[in-house]
Amino acid sequence: MTIEFNSVSKIFANSGSTRVLDDVNLVIEDNEFFTLLGPSGCGKTTLLRMIAGFEHPTSGSITLFGDPLEATPPNARPVNTVFQHYALFPHQTVEQNVSFGLKMLRRPAAEIKVDVERVLDLVQLGDLARRLPHQLSGGQQQRVALARALVTRPRALLLDEPLSALDSKLRDEMRVELKTLQREMGITFVFVTHDQGEALAMSDRIAVLSGGRIQQVGSPDEIYDRPANRFVAQFVGDTNFLEGTVFCGPGRESVFRTSAGAIIPIADTSYQENQCATLAFIRPEKLHLSSYADAEASGRKGLRGVVSNKLYLGTDTVYSIDLDGGETLRAQNPEHERSGKPFRDWRPGQCQRRAQRV
Ligand code: ATP
Repeated sequence: MTIEFNSVSKIFANSGSTRVLDDVNLVIEDNEFFTLLGPSGCGKTTLLRMIAGFEHPTSGSITLFGDPLEATPPNARPVNTVFQHYALFPHQTVEQNVSFGLKMLRRPAAEIKVDVERVLDLVQLGDLARRLPHQLSGGQQQRVALARALVTRPRALLLDEPLSALDSKLRDEMRVELKTLQREMGITFVFVTHDQGEALAMSDRIAVLSGGRIQQVGSPDEIYDRPANRFVAQFVGDTNFLEGTVFCGPGRESVFRTSAGAIIPIADTSYQENQCATLAFIRPEKLHLSSYADAEASGRKGLRGVVSNKLYLGTDTVYSIDLDGGETLRAQNPEHERSGKPFRDWRPGQCQRRAQRV
């Protein structure tokens, strides 16, 4: 393993008794693209700064490549950081910026030249080596920052919201480049972001944080499809919630009864306890819409409601459905939209439809 947090808590001297990090236990494996994801102020940067040695735990311990963190002084740790605003030296060329770390390590000039050329080629900046930072685009400056952090061949790279200053098109491109770079170099990336789409797209595993506590650690599909709690379900992707009760029937048949009395069969056979109060979450893109007549003809059970709104967003169409019980659900690109069946002319409130979970 690369990095391990054991019961790490942090209280800043000037923050009273507030725990900015509270009993964090985390293992980051070798060569992982590992993301710390959470809203502003949840403690992501503080965790990252601890790995770099800029902050220290109030209690608990951190292990880096098998050794206690404090056993190695910060400048000798095989980790480098890429900051949100790049922090390039403005009066130095790309080449000089990138060679800085190697000069500090007193490497021979010939070796520095070879290493700088290699890493500039890797980030596709070989032709711009003589330019100054202000003569580069935002994406190019970001690549210089990456090259500067990679040139000393760290075993782990710490990235603090490195894409947030880029426009959305460039950010999409850099996501792909970063992921490719990490795979090709085979080093551990610890990536901080508050953007759940970015985390899902790039990571091998994600730790979701809120209020200084780890809410869930898992692969992107585990986090998205099996969120550990309400916070994770809401923060990672859009979701509907329905309150109700699970009834476990004989022979593994279980149903979910909403508080308004609608019954939905459920496939999950893991419920042990009969009549447990449950909060069901349903992703908007998992809902299937059909008319009452079609639903009855097919014998499918579902929730009754009225389409109260339709929002056309180009790639997505989002319906609002007011259920008989009073709740409103959102359905995104329901099946008929994808299959092109003739439901495109639905008008809000015009006719009753049955919303059904697939
Ligand atoms: P953001 O996404 O906004 O950068 P974050 O999740 O990275 O947020 P941190 O920067 O780790 O959050 O901050 C976590 C909490 O710790 C915040 O409430 C912040 O105000 C507080 N904090 C951070 N650094 C210090 C400090 N040096 N002194 C006091 N409080 C601090």
